[in-house]
Amino acid sequence: MVGAVDGNGYERFRAFEAEANASLAGTAGASAACLWMTGFSGSGKSTISGALSRRLHAQGLLCYSLDGDLLRRGLNRDLGFTDADRSENLRRTAEVARLMVDAGLIAIVSLISPFRIDRAFARSRFAPRRFCEVFVDAPLAVCERRDPKGLYAKARRGELTGMTGLDSPYEPPDKPDLHLRTDTDDVDACAEQILSWLAGAGRISGQGNAQRRSACAR
Ligand code: ADP
Repeated sequence: MVGAVDGNGYERFRAFEAEANASLAGTAGASAACLWMTGFSGSGKSTISGALSRRLHAQGLLCYSLDGDLLRRGLNRDLGFTDADRSENLRRTAEVARLMVDAGLIAIVSLISPFRIDRAFARSRFAPRRFCEVFVDAPLAVCERRDPKGLYAKARRGELTGMTGLDSPYEPPDKPDLHLRTDTDDVDACAEQILSWLAGAGRISGQGNAQRRSACAR
């Protein structure tokens, strides 16, 4: 019983369970991975997450989107936007994603995650081929023009402080596993690049792309 074991015993129990799930070849457990999307607000993280999730579901794969904005309404509602709170926001999100991956899911995280040290922490929680740092990249000016949530306009009016890219820094990844350029590649092309990474990492089958595309087009 989980509740009856001590700290180390619990870690061992989790590791055993995660391994057992992952070893169920040909089932959802084998595809478990964390796709960590980082980038400016408006760069396209949530949009790509939605497109990817539709494609994965069309292949019968279990995935779950962990969206920074939604998490801030529940699990992380006590956190603000100071550097310390952003780090804690990321830490909690990484731990939830880790639990999901242990349980056999593909966790898709959409979080600005502006600091390298915090993203390194997230990576440290996963086995190498089960974590993909996805840099969702578009120039700040493009993101500001899109401004899907009106946040840049609010920040420019002085109604919001700590806006990443304006008065709060963003540290771009040095060596992301994937670098998506959403100002030049469309949503479909970006989602396909993530699927290719998953196939290359042995998480999903590389077969059936055409089938998947037609299922998504319906
Ligand atoms: P984020 O989650 O990073 O804050 P959103 O996904 O909410 O960003 O918003 C991105 C906006 O940019 C959406 O309005 C989307 O339609 C648009 N967009 C244009 N091109 C792309 C692309 N290639 N990938 C993702 N979003 C794009």
